[in-house]
Formats: sequence, C-alpha cells, structure tokens
Amino acid sequence: MPSSGGDSIKVAVRVRPFNQRELNRKAKCVVSMQGNSTTITNPTNKETKQFSFDYSYWSHDGYVVDQNGRLIQSEASSRYADQMTVFDDLGRGVLQNAWAGYNATLFAYGQTGSGKSYSMVGHGSNKGIVPITCGNLFRAIDEAREGDKELQVTFSMLEIYNEQTRDLLFNKSQHKSTNLKVRENRDVGFYVEGLTQHPCRDYNSVEQLMEVGAINRTTAATNMNATSSRSHMVISIKFKQIFNNDLGESTMKTSEINLVDLAGSERAESSGATGDRLKEGSAINRSLLMLGTVIETLATADPKSVVPYRDSVLTKLLKSALGGNSKTVMIAALSPADINYEETLSTLRYANRAKKIKNRAVVNES
Ligand code: ADP
Ligand code: MG
Repeated sequence: MPSSGGDSIKVAVRVRPFNQRELNRKAKCVVSMQGNSTTITNPTNKETKQFSFDYSYWSHDGYVVDQNGRLIQSEASSRYADQMTVFDDLGRGVLQNAWAGYNATLFAYGQTGSGKSYSMVGHGSNKGIVPITCGNLFRAIDEAREGDKELQVTFSMLEIYNEQTRDLLFNKSQHKSTNLKVRENRDVGFYVEGLTQHPCRDYNSVEQLMEVGAINRTTAATNMNATSSRSHMVISIKFKQIFNNDLGESTMKTSEINLVDLAGSERAESSGATGDRLKEGSAINRSLLMLGTVIETLATADPKSVVPYRDSVLTKLLKSALGGNSKTVMIAALSPADINYEETLSTLRYANRAKKIKNRAVVNES
C-alpha cells in the first residue's frame, strides 16, 4: 500500500557530458549540481528550479556551470561519477540485497540520448551497472561455493514494444517468441508465459546472452523501421541459494533482480504523428504513461487509491518494484544542453515523484 512505512525508492540523477553536436553549436549547460542538490535553469528567463535526490552524478570532470551556462574550470566539481562510482553506490546494494534474499529493481528513465543505456549496459569498455553487477555476482558466487550450499543463477531478457512482449533470448526451436502473454499467479505475481530462462554458470555466459539480446533488440527495431529507443528492455536475474543440512533437509533463499532500460521518455508525450506511427506511438505511450500514472498514484500516498498496475505490460512487470516487495533504484538520465531543457525538467519532476514511493521488501525464504 502506498502509505507510510517501508523504505523509499532510491533515486539517482546522472547528467551526461555534452555530445559533439552540442559542443559544435556551443550549447549551454542548464543543469548544475552541488552536494545532493540539482539545479536546472530555464535558458530563456533564467528561472531556476532546485531538486534533491539520493545521488546526483556529474559528468563534466573539473568543470562547474557559470551564470551564462558555460562550463568553467573548477576544483569544486566533486560529484563527478564514472561507471564504477555509480556501481559502488547503486549496484553493490542490489547485490547485497540479492544475497540477503530481497528482490531488487533498478530502472533507467530519461529521454532518448540522455544516457540510460550507458548507465545500464555501458559503452565499449565502459561497462555499465548490469555487466559490472553480474561480474561481481559471479565473483562472489565462486568464493561462496561450498559443499552444503547450492547457488543458481538464471537469466532472461525481454522487450516490450507496442504493448507486445518479446523474448530477446528465444531458442531457434522455440515455437513462439513474440507477443508472449503476461499472466498472473498468486505466488509469483505477474510473469511472462513462455519466456526462456537461461541457467548461467559464469559471467561469460551472461555476457554472451547480453550480446545476443542486444542484437535481437536492434534487429527487431530495424525490421519494424524503428529504433530501440521505442522499446523497453527488461533483464531479469533469478538468484537462488539452497542450503542443505546434514539431515538431508534444505532451505532456500531467492531473489529476483530486474534491470530495466526504458524507452525514451519523450514517447510519453503526445506526438503529432498519424497512421502507423500514431498507432505505434500511442502503444508506447501506454506503458510509459501508465508508469507515470502508477508513480503518481503511489506518490500521493492515499492508501485507498487503486493503483492501475494492470493497465499496461510494463506496470504489470514492475508491480513489485513499485510499492511492493522490492528494493528499487531509479536512475534518471539527464541531458545537460539548453535545447533539451523541457525534457530534462520533466525528467527531474518525474524523478521527484518517484522519490516518494515506499516499498515493502521482505526476505524470500522457504
Ligand atoms: P539513451 O540510452 O538514453 O538513449 P545512451 O546511453 O545511448 O542514451 O547515450 C547517448 C550517448 O551519450 C552515447 O554515445 C553514450 O556513450 C554517451 N553517454 C551517455 N552518458 C554518458 C556518461 N555518463 N559519460 C560518458 N558518455 C555518456
Ligand atoms: Mg538506449
């Protein structure tokens, strides 16, 4: 229930560096960070709005923003964060929770090109939270393997496109990999029927699966004449610890880690498109819009309100992450550039609402 108690969703904001195009046109920086406060300046009237989040990550190493939105060299930019810093703050907690038997969810929100995939998956050798977390999980598993304890990891990866759920790691022999049904079960909540679950013994197998999944996501987008920025990607890692005692009895601790790279948040707004593009646009709007509505409902903290989880595929799959049995972290990815001011402000507001959501995570033990 969206009332008091439980622990809040942790929210991190991360501003990406200027890209080449922005540098070429001498874009101004509208976002500045100091301590845990993030300030955004309206490039037209210079009005400022200030927000405060659990973590704020700065990417312009050694620079701060002056009154004119120019980056100037400074000693004071202590919020600079590389991938490892972000993992240390957010990913390590996810891992600790997994060992303790809690479910954990980490999702990245923001407009296309703001750095969601960079934070989650990474870019080249700058690995993101997902691969670093998986690497550390298997390192810890190798150290913990003992005679009386079995440790199992299964991996799955799907995308939601146009309210359809697609397995990104389907087997060739598989009958059906697209338009999978989301079903509900009293014990496990919502789940995707027929989604392939891949047992993984080491980090290499995870890395291979992620590569295959990324290729399938891009291929599908290309075939549909779209980009992957229109789909939501959900990676799910099931971690099971089985403890066997001398009497032949066993107990179990389980955890599900969900890692979500959302579609570009600009899709949540009405587009002027028509025909096929409208159909596609509106379906994508649905999952993102409903995510916004669910967050809004939970954030208003009226325990009597009905939370509309059932109204989109994404909110069904994220049900436990939002107000339920999960420790949840949101990364809001921000562009620094004046041209993206409206989208960045809307992302900050969204993140500010998410902060108010209380979850009730319990240890999954049997
Ligand atoms: P999104 O997934 O939100 O559409 P990307 O993650 O693809 O955006 O990021 C867009 C571009 O910006 C990529 O080239 C990416 O490598 C770069 N980028 C994003 N965030 C950072 C960052 N924190 N540091 C360095 N480069 C970044
Ligand atoms: Mg992306």
